[in-house]
Amino acid sequence: MTRWLAEYAWLPEQPEPTPDVLIETAAGRITGVTPLTTEGRPTTGVEVLADAVRLPGLTLPGLANAHSHAFHRALRGRTHGGRGDFWTWRDRMYEVAARLDPESYLALARAGYAEMALAGITCVGEFHYLHHGPDGTPYADPNAMGAALVEAAAHAGIRLTLLDACYLTASVAGEPLAGPQRRFGDGDALRWAKRAAAFDPTDAHVRVGAAIHSVRAVPADQLATVADAARERGVPLHLHLSEQPAENDACRAAHGCTPTRLLADRGVLDQHTTAVHATHPTSSDVALLGESRTGVCLCPTTERDLADGIGPARRLANAGSPLSLGSDSHAVVDLFEEARAVELDERLRTRQRGHFTVGELVTAATSAGHAALGWGDAGRLAVGDRADLVTVRLDSPRTAGVPAAGAFFAATAGDVHQVVVDGEVVVQDGRHRSVDVPTELATSIGEVTGAHG
Ligand SMILES: [Zn+2]
Repeated sequence: MTRWLAEYAWLPEQPEPTPDVLIETAAGRITGVTPLTTEGRPTTGVEVLADAVRLPGLTLPGLANAHSHAFHRALRGRTHGGRGDFWTWRDRMYEVAARLDPESYLALARAGYAEMALAGITCVGEFHYLHHGPDGTPYADPNAMGAALVEAAAHAGIRLTLLDACYLTASVAGEPLAGPQRRFGDGDALRWAKRAAAFDPTDAHVRVGAAIHSVRAVPADQLATVADAARERGVPLHLHLSEQPAENDACRAAHGCTPTRLLADRGVLDQHTTAVHATHPTSSDVALLGESRTGVCLCPTTERDLADGIGPARRLANAGSPLSLGSDSHAVVDLFEEARAVELDERLRTRQRGHFTVGELVTAATSAGHAALGWGDAGRLAVGDRADLVTVRLDSPRTAGVPAAGAFFAATAGDVHQVVVDGEVVVQDGRHRSVDVPTELATSIGEVTGAHG
């Protein structure tokens, strides 16, 4: 058993951090959570052993990054100048996609996931569609690219939900995949389901899930096949939804309804489904998502980077959709920034403050994200939950002088100085214990962009 003494800890259902909390862990689980002071005085009857590991600063539950495309990390800083939009960015993304193989994918994802560990992310949802060789021919192991991601997460010391994405067409109108997209496709949804079902890793740090890339990439008459496959396996189902107005327009032209309506009619939306982005839903779409308890994963730093727009986060939450957060394109890997942006974007839109409580933002970054990825036993500092402890410094240039309750609005990923995942110390004193993150990022990105030296 390990005993940790947190200067402050963010406990479930509490509006602000609790000082002096003894957290006990054993076999990767939290076995005790005991505040040592009550209204400033020592709690009676609690003995703190001298060997308790001190955690100075604010200790949070593990952060969950519910939406990632590992290889997009190679694009950071390469697409940010000049004009263009989502669609021109996508052309650059395809250039990187075309260069990857299982070996280079492993190296890039290992470095990217280790960067996430440094940021306090203990679990990532990888929305995985880079399945086959560059011309669409399967590798000898048709799940070699997924296996590379599983290995990458193991090296980085974080949990992974591999959301295997069905990606069949290039447009809502059903145009065939072409060029770099060919490696995403499995032909039809049944063949996707067969390949995905054949991948069943037993490693403790990984779970599988399913994904519909979007209504652009899966024909309407095959949506239910993907959803049924996910339900049969009892795994989460994720999908990109209404990131762009053009997707809504194309769906109306092809099917006479919005993407959300189409998905609802095909039985895709329920509490095991997470819609990523939902930036441009209609009022009826918001109601459909909320009534079905479909989760929504917001990716505000990517949405701002790609000039997507601001999603109606408050209205979605009010309607009944649990909110989670993702770094998506990895223009930024910082869940504090993603969480703040949910509130700050609403402020820009409404010119009013105070749409979300800090507690709601912490929930989105922790337990709601884990639940969206199928880990219902993670993301809370509570007995029985996984022993994930993310400790943020309160003496850094960003956080010095900030009250613990305000740290979530002041800290950055760079202020995370210790990360424990399933009881194992992965980050200590701000350094990853097994990956030289900057060196491995530079090397692996150099490989896939051709920018050596
Ligand atoms: Zn995405």
